[in-house]
Amino acid sequence: MKLQKLLPPSKNIFNFKGIKKLFFLSLFFSYSSLLADAHIFVYHRFGDNRHPTTNTSIKELIKEFDYFKNNGYKVIKLDTLVNALKHHQKIDDKWVVLTIDDNFKSFYQNALAVFKEYNYPFSLFVYIKATEDRYPDYTSWKELKEISKYGSLEFHSYSHPHMTYKSDKYLKEDFKKGLELMKKRLGITPKYFAYPYGEYDKRVQNIAKSFGFKAIINQNIGAISKYSDIYDLDRNALVGKSNLKRDLSYKELHIDIIEPKEYPKNGILKKIMAKLYDKNIKSAGYYLSGYGWSKLKVKNALIDKEVEKKLIKKRNRLVINVNDAIKTKLLIKDRYGNK
Ligand SMILES: [Zn+2]
Repeated sequence: MKLQKLLPPSKNIFNFKGIKKLFFLSLFFSYSSLLADAHIFVYHRFGDNRHPTTNTSIKELIKEFDYFKNNGYKVIKLDTLVNALKHHQKIDDKWVVLTIDDNFKSFYQNALAVFKEYNYPFSLFVYIKATEDRYPDYTSWKELKEISKYGSLEFHSYSHPHMTYKSDKYLKEDFKKGLELMKKRLGITPKYFAYPYGEYDKRVQNIAKSFGFKAIINQNIGAISKYSDIYDLDRNALVGKSNLKRDLSYKELHIDIIEPKEYPKNGILKKIMAKLYDKNIKSAGYYLSGYGWSKLKVKNALIDKEVEKKLIKKRNRLVINVNDAIKTKLLIKDRYGNK
């Protein structure tokens, strides 16, 4: 589903003038030289104007593929990236991984030929019930079998629920049923899982992990570096007219977000506390859904800010940035974890 498009970590919240300019530029270069970051993208529908919020036109898809090709990007398998992370190998900042969520028929009908033409590998995350119950907009098992010759088929849940709204019991049964059907119909045991709607928290993540996936993919804007958690890999959505240059400029911010840990009590975010790993950073920014970007002071690599803001959305994103390096914390109400 659609990811709410964030503004780019806005440079205009910083004042690029005089000394400040030099200061931030030097920060930017120290970051660039330290980090190499790959990027994972997610598509949904292709050449399907009925759903503009999840659609990529074929013209746009070809434009994006040409951009990768003409700018030295290497489209690699998700498995190649995850293996490099697991074995602590170098992450190439020209690596791009392409994923598709929801196995809509429009991928099979309109886009598969383009992926084949460019010889680009992909991972398709399958919504099992839609195929099993023959929803008209989704691929059949037979089409999935055909698709699996060119890319990997991965898991996107059985019933595509809003997972933080479901009990442990419901979720475990959903995983079990979906994985059994994938095995039965296709003979495939998927290695990777992507959350429906990109919605999760610690409780949902722990249940997903218990099913033994090699890695888990979210839908938070960001990048993949050697610091990435393989059970929480960031993915950028490509919808409509994309801005690849911007999306590919994101880096992963090496940071531990200490507070908030989860959706806060009463829906009020009181404090942002985080530890950075670069002592030279003196200033950062943060974005909160519904509030836009604000500044954060950094002292001794620590962010400690009282905020007192009521969360407005059902799904709230807290994004912390230092120039182009960003990290997202998703804050969603969990009906079974925090109430
Ligand atoms: Zn989905």
